[in-house]
Amino acid sequence: MPGEGIIDAKVMIIGEAPGKVNDETGRPFVGLGGKILHKILDRLGVDKDQLFLTNAIKCWPPGNRKPTKEEVKRCKNYLEEQVRLVQPKLIITLGTTATEGLINQKIKLNQIHGSIFYYQGIPLSPTFHPNAVRYLRGGAQKIEADISKALRELGITTNQATLTTT
Ligand code: URA
Repeated sequence: MPGEGIIDAKVMIIGEAPGKVNDETGRPFVGLGGKILHKILDRLGVDKDQLFLTNAIKCWPPGNRKPTKEEVKRCKNYLEEQVRLVQPKLIITLGTTATEGLINQKIKLNQIHGSIFYYQGIPLSPTFHPNAVRYLRGGAQKIEADISKALRELGITTNQATLTTT
């Protein structure tokens, strides 16, 4: 499941891996986690035509298990090419798998979420995975605050309303 969005999207959001339904429908973030993510993006006023949504892993890991490091490595060339083609102004990684897969270092998400790293020279800001809101207190608010902070710090406008007032 390659992902979906426009080729010149300003923001690229990279999740972990497709779930079974994503794999079957060919669409990313259509399950519960996806609903949470879209709600957050709507609240932040991020237009869908400013987005490219994809995952670190391109196939459903059977049984919904966590993808292995080897699987992340095997899908990396594909993701790298997607980033090279889209050239977003900001990459948001959701969760540890996508973040570690891209920045190539071990991280503690609760210590570094919302800060800025670089991937292929493009600012990358990690936040929690929307599936984590089931056990992470205030998770949705934290994700929203992280994305909002990254957009603000980088001066990225993502909707018509903002574009006409700045
Ligand atoms: N759906 C996706 O496409 N990616 C995730 O990480 C979770 C759900």
